[in-house]
Amino acid sequence: MTSNASRTTRGRGRLYESVVDTVGETPCIRVNNLAPEHVRMYVKAEFFNPAGSVKDRLAISIIEEAERRGDLKPGQTVVEATSGNTGIGLAMVCAAKGYPLVVTMADSFSIERRKLMRFLGARVVLTPRAEKGFGMYQKAKELADANGWFLARQFETADNATVHENTTAREILADFAGERLDYLVTGYGTGGTITGVGRVLRQERPDTKIILSEPANAQLIGSGIAQERGAESAPGVSHPAFQPHPIQGWTPDFIPYVLQEAIDQHYFDELIPVPGPVGIEWSKKLAQKEGIFTGISGGATFAVAMQVAEKAAPGSVILCMLPDTGERYLSSPLFEGIVEGMTEEETALSRSTPGCQMPSP
Ligand code: PMP
Repeated sequence: MTSNASRTTRGRGRLYESVVDTVGETPCIRVNNLAPEHVRMYVKAEFFNPAGSVKDRLAISIIEEAERRGDLKPGQTVVEATSGNTGIGLAMVCAAKGYPLVVTMADSFSIERRKLMRFLGARVVLTPRAEKGFGMYQKAKELADANGWFLARQFETADNATVHENTTAREILADFAGERLDYLVTGYGTGGTITGVGRVLRQERPDTKIILSEPANAQLIGSGIAQERGAESAPGVSHPAFQPHPIQGWTPDFIPYVLQEAIDQHYFDELIPVPGPVGIEWSKKLAQKEGIFTGISGGATFAVAMQVAEKAAPGSVILCMLPDTGERYLSSPLFEGIVEGMTEEETALSRSTPGCQMPSP
């Protein structure tokens, strides 16, 4: 039976052999209500990935490349330091492929990230927040060395930027083939996205301006101070410009080695800082005015994209990366002010008709 409704779908036209094959091919979605009239804005919605973030790309790349090289043996434990999305992506990939996973994570990151990883079968070892990203990293390295585990090394591995070069960037090229693309806006955590996408856009779309952002109170690149590095390109010490910020997944307390290429090769035309609270504000606006549900880093990236849009020439096309879903921020500042009980307005609505009312508190 067919219905008379006009909206129909046809399926993806293929069967998937594993959840890991559903990573990537995320849609670029037009921003209709918030975008200034004189430009076209799109967001690349990485929350369409199976575990809800851009880091699913990194996870499948690290694991499959390590398998291919023989660095990861069947059933070997994988360990990584991660503020959450990489851990969730790795947990998804490791579950699908049968590797045990241990994640080290500072206790300052949202509770639901820990729970999600544990739900996906990973073990989460917390580290004190005072020891920052550097402490998480040290712990992961120690555990790997002590147990002969495979350390994923998201901040150093070449498999990070490569997957963005081969997937994220190619998707952007394909989706904007024959279209203008005046600006690409992104932030950085490991720097995988900016480095991989930068490599390709600089070659294939040299007219596209690339805008990079970082937290206003943690301007590691903006400070101009180089990162001290230790063994295997890992950070030697915490960067002096770092301050704790609410944009989870962005800017750790060091300049990652993966990001260094984007700095050295000038893969961005402008660096625009953004305050965390502004990111929160724009994440809410994207949800409430567009129905586009992204986390704080997505809101922060979009805040910068809006600044770019205001100044852009008429007809400009702007693409903004949205790294993850807003659903993993329920216990974070993103949801502050979103109450559990009824608001005054909701209570008044409830009382406005006689049936089915809650008792007065
Ligand atoms: N936003 C969030 C929420 C993230 O988890 C990450 C990855 N750490 C990023 C942005 C940045 O992506 P990348 O590591 O590719 O720079």
